[in-house]
Amino acid sequence: MSARTPLPAPVGALERRLDERLERIRAADLYRVRRAIDGSHGARIRVDGRDCANFCSNDYLGLAADPRVAAAAARALAASGTGSGASALVSGYNREHQRLEEMLAAQTGRPRALLFSSGWAANLGVLRALLGREDVLIADELNHASLIDGGRLCGARYLRAEHASVPAFAQCLAESEDRAAGAMRLLVSDSVFSMDGDLAPLAELAELARGHDAALMVDDAHGFGVLGADGAGAVAAAGLGIEDVPVYVATLGKSLGSGGAFVAGSERLIEFLIQRARTWVFSTAPPPALAAAAASALQILHDEPQHREALFANIERFRAGAAQLGIPLMRSTTPIQPLVVGDAARALELSAELLEKGIWVAAIRPPTVPVGTSRLRITLSAAHRSEDIDRLLDALRAALQRVMHPAVPA
Ligand SMILES: *Cc1c(COP(=O)(O)O)cnc(C)c1O
Repeated sequence: MSARTPLPAPVGALERRLDERLERIRAADLYRVRRAIDGSHGARIRVDGRDCANFCSNDYLGLAADPRVAAAAARALAASGTGSGASALVSGYNREHQRLEEMLAAQTGRPRALLFSSGWAANLGVLRALLGREDVLIADELNHASLIDGGRLCGARYLRAEHASVPAFAQCLAESEDRAAGAMRLLVSDSVFSMDGDLAPLAELAELARGHDAALMVDDAHGFGVLGADGAGAVAAAGLGIEDVPVYVATLGKSLGSGGAFVAGSERLIEFLIQRARTWVFSTAPPPALAAAAASALQILHDEPQHREALFANIERFRAGAAQLGIPLMRSTTPIQPLVVGDAARALELSAELLEKGIWVAAIRPPTVPVGTSRLRITLSAAHRSEDIDRLLDALRAALQRVMHPAVPA
């Protein structure tokens, strides 16, 4: 169903309400539609039947389309079938899951890891398990939606800190000194912010937490596999260990090209989550083949540093080219390189114009980003060729000129 397909007249209370709300979304240029993809989500992608260069995937290392990862999944499918039957507590977990958890614990330098079916489930499950009404959650205002929802769901007092501001976190700690005896304070932040690509001040947050007997949780969805030696993630890159970041979450659907997520931490943390994380306890374990795919991707990451090197060379090429052409980027050093245009309609227009030229970059609009900061969220991959990046830069220059300054001929 597309934005343009006329719907039949609404009948009944529910349909009338939906009709009203959809109209409002449409009128604000915030209506969203999906595009149909044929084949894999690699650096080349087939969007609605058109071959494109893909600049909006989080598959930063090109592993989602790596035949070796697919082959590992296929072997696990043959050996272990498609489904995992039930929650791991009910029917057990497969050797594929067990092996991956051991690899993830080793990769993150923590005693144990626990697989969840998604990053969303991990964040919700962890926050709800760890915090109750008497506790205090101090969260960066640009944290991922799953951390925001988890924070609301757990019922703890929710203090929102200005984005990446150490003084703001310190202020929230000062404000919560009056907490009840035995109450815990948890600081939580994305490591790499998903829509801006900038980094949290992790070392400073860890120091703050330590100085105030608080704990720190980091969501490294966009850092794991990309940053740090061996792709160990943003926390490792900041020189922080388990004593600084006792609760570490990362996902497997981004740089590892698979799906699912994990929490890594102490034996005690993982044992507690197995007892109490509702999104883990009451959810079917991820298919064993997904775990096998992620394990294969992790092994490739370990054996072949050239993918991360290629990724960073591509980021550099894109940023240098943009600077030369006067394309205004944010100050990001990560694969996420947003081009903020402000207005939602303009972002859509830019995206459509790029798609015409065989370049696939989605427009990101509110509520995913704050009102007035609609953008093209450009992401780079190790699998992009130099020509892809040059073509993107060319197309961006032309499209920006036409959409932002319509009077000036491109
Ligand atoms: C993508 C993302 C998630 C959610 O992970 P899924 O596995 O896609 O559910 C959580 N946190 C951050 C920061 C993310 O970017």
